[in-house]
Amino acid sequence: MDLGIKGKWALVCGASKGLGLGCAQALVAEGVNVVLVARGARDLEAAVADLRAASPGVAVLGVAADITTPEGRAAALSVANGPGTAFDIVVNNAGGPPPGDFRAWDREVWIKALDANMLTPIELIKATVDGMAQRGFGRIVNITSGAVKAPMEVLGLSNGARSGLTGFVAGVARSPVAAQGVTINNLLPGAFETDRLKTTLAGLAQKSGQSAEAIAENRRKGIPARRFGNPQEFGAVCAFLCSVQAGYITGQNVLADGGAYPGTF
Ligand code: NAD
Repeated sequence: MDLGIKGKWALVCGASKGLGLGCAQALVAEGVNVVLVARGARDLEAAVADLRAASPGVAVLGVAADITTPEGRAAALSVANGPGTAFDIVVNNAGGPPPGDFRAWDREVWIKALDANMLTPIELIKATVDGMAQRGFGRIVNITSGAVKAPMEVLGLSNGARSGLTGFVAGVARSPVAAQGVTINNLLPGAFETDRLKTTLAGLAQKSGQSAEAIAENRRKGIPARRFGNPQEFGAVCAFLCSVQAGYITGQNVLADGGAYPGTF
């Protein structure tokens, strides 16, 4: 299926690895020009080089910056096809907050989580949504987490910050921009095979004395698909949400979790 977005410009955050990279790969494969943002220059350069080699006709640019800072966002937004904010597609993503016990989290810890997983996406929506609406086309996809629908106790920072973003998006997606060709959706990953998942499993292994593979196997058993997802299939869903065909889908929370969420709705 031709997704109808060839030649558009996309900003993909947290894009040198994992789910963000999966989204960038899928968009580039559709002929979308992509600006990738990530903190580490080395992984970012490698990702940019791979994407350029795979799709020579498409512009692929990298910005090494922390997207949770005003300077990082300014750097990312300044690289587009026109002055300032001419992105047609924005994929919001940053590292998730650490697990822990809420009794140990002070205001500073909370502000960091809110900055990364709630206020940064809101700032990027603010910076781009009106331009999209004026041009009559826009797609914003926020990578959140399956934990928004099925919270995990140890992920309190993530549960709180991402639920705040989800509430904000529910409102703004239904604002007048909805009639101007702009859709805003959240894409909720379950367990995907990425560095973050590996780190989480290694941490659990250290605590429990079990091997990381034994913990992974146990986790897979709890997923109806009996496997972890891969970033490419996540990216494909993201690209579809950015497509012309998905123009009537907005304000939604789309789970990609192999059936792990047990509810009917
Ligand atoms: P990852 O660690 O594999 O990759 C994260 C990417 O984001 C890297 O490219 C990193 O450089 C970049 N990044 C992190 N913080 C950044 C920042 N402040 N500024 C710019 N770039 C930044 O992680 P992932 O597994 O791809 O996860 C992506 C998001 O999805 C995270 O918020 C994570 O919590 C969430 N999530 C992941 C899973 C999973 O199973 N992988 C499940 C639920 C939620």
